[in-house]
Amino acid sequence: MNCDVVIVGAGPAGIFTALELIRLKKRKKIVMIEKGSPIENRHCPKMHAKTCMKCKPYCHITTGFSGAGAFSDGKLSLSCEVGGDLPDLIGSSATQELIDYADQIYLEFGAVRHVEGLENTEQTKDIRRRAIKAGLKLIDCPIRHLGTEKAQELYRHIQSYLIEQGVEILFGNECTNLVMEQNVCKGVRVHKVGSPDYFEIAAPAVIVAAGRRGADWLERICEEHDILHQSGNVDIGVRVEIRNEIMEKVNKTLYESKLIGYPKPFKNKVRTFCQNPGGFVSQENYDNNLAVVNGHSYKEMKSENTNVAILCSHNFSEPFNQPIAYAQKIGELTNMLGNGHILVQRYGDLLDGKRTWQKELERSNVRPTLTDAVAGDISAAMPYRAMINIINFIEAVDHVVPGFAGAETLLYSPELKFYSNRIKLSDTLQTSIAGLYCLGDSSGWTRGLMMASAMGILMGRILK
Ligand SMILES: Cc1cc2nc3c(=O)[nH]c(=O)nc-3n(C[C@H](O)[C@H](O)[C@H](O)COP(=O)(O)OP(=O)(O)OC[C@H]3O[C@@H](n4cnc5c(N)ncnc54)[C@H](O)[C@@H]3O)c2cc1C
Repeated sequence: MNCDVVIVGAGPAGIFTALELIRLKKRKKIVMIEKGSPIENRHCPKMHAKTCMKCKPYCHITTGFSGAGAFSDGKLSLSCEVGGDLPDLIGSSATQELIDYADQIYLEFGAVRHVEGLENTEQTKDIRRRAIKAGLKLIDCPIRHLGTEKAQELYRHIQSYLIEQGVEILFGNECTNLVMEQNVCKGVRVHKVGSPDYFEIAAPAVIVAAGRRGADWLERICEEHDILHQSGNVDIGVRVEIRNEIMEKVNKTLYESKLIGYPKPFKNKVRTFCQNPGGFVSQENYDNNLAVVNGHSYKEMKSENTNVAILCSHNFSEPFNQPIAYAQKIGELTNMLGNGHILVQRYGDLLDGKRTWQKELERSNVRPTLTDAVAGDISAAMPYRAMINIINFIEAVDHVVPGFAGAETLLYSPELKFYSNRIKLSDTLQTSIAGLYCLGDSSGWTRGLMMASAMGILMGRILK
């Protein structure tokens, strides 16, 4: 098979590349290879089974058309300060222009018009004042919140549009390797999922946009073909769940409070991430059976709780430089203690040095929205440095949101974000291998829907 552009991965980064090529009328033959299913066939059985079925050969939450975006909370962060490091590659104003342009496309496909967190009210000022006193920085980030249902509807429209415009999307197919000739990437090798048979697609432009899900695979490909990359940060943390009443002021004023701190004694960067007012804590499974915690919220269906991640960045140099492997070991150990499930512990128990028991959860004000999480002791698997960072950060946030450090606040673990293996890219998004480009979360340069989409737009503009 031959085409002009082959895109590995139909997540936001890959989708927006195809969209921009079409909008610019570049008349390219575009083939997308997607391991998962079309969006209408993506179903997480947990909705009915109430427990994670560990679907094989892949998890529907992260795999299929629109990638990790389909079951996401659909929070589009409209500031270039949030969602990744693209500004370090192309500059802040260029990134902001791409974000604004991508936002218009989201609106055209049906995104809600309302934007949260735009006003600088007395409440915002008070939250900022408290944050400063507690040694935290409050980042301004307007958010367009789609909600999980709306996000799926919107991506369904985009899927139909791409197909109508002649983009060939090969669902249920996995890219397993690159086709290389004299150090130039000439195409990709593709297997139907679960089959040993393969075929090759030749293209002058190969774009890898495989998301976090494809990060391990891409790391192997980088080693095999000497694609320049460096290990970046890995984020290790917990997902915190609190009653909406405690979070009310922040939820109403900002929807999402993006707080950053450098707590003593380690002074590592610790931040809040992905806040879901009235949301639900969820579980994601990686191919290697690792179960990690996440969170999302629906536009209509609301819980009594708000969840938010607290993440600490970790980096390594000598003699060990494999952050993904490090975080995976923490995840495996935590999963082992939870008998394959996510662990949950009350904050007060953590401080008292005791595990949480299931019966104690049942009599708490804060009832876990991840109903199959197992009560236990997260400190038995969390490295000391990460644990102290998290505890001291929670204590600081308590000054901004009184009650955040309450005894019944729930901490779920493992909350891991794998962004490492940052691919060396030129400002035209080309890797160190001619003909090979890399985008979105798998490139290590983005970690959110909007910045991944913006990077896709840029890719579309770059391809001649
Ligand atoms: C539960 C959840 C909630 C989230 N909520 C938000 C949010 O509210 N706001 C926000 O900004 N971000 C959120 N995120 C993060 C956001 O979804 C990602 O940053 C974004 O989807 C990254 O886009 P991407 O295109 O780079 O990769 P992805 O969306 O991960 O897409 C990559 C695609 O590539 C496919 N793929 C991987 N390897 C191969 C291969 N070898 N061959 C073929 N196909 C392959 C995968 O199946 C996948 O469909 C959330 C993520 C999750 C999991």
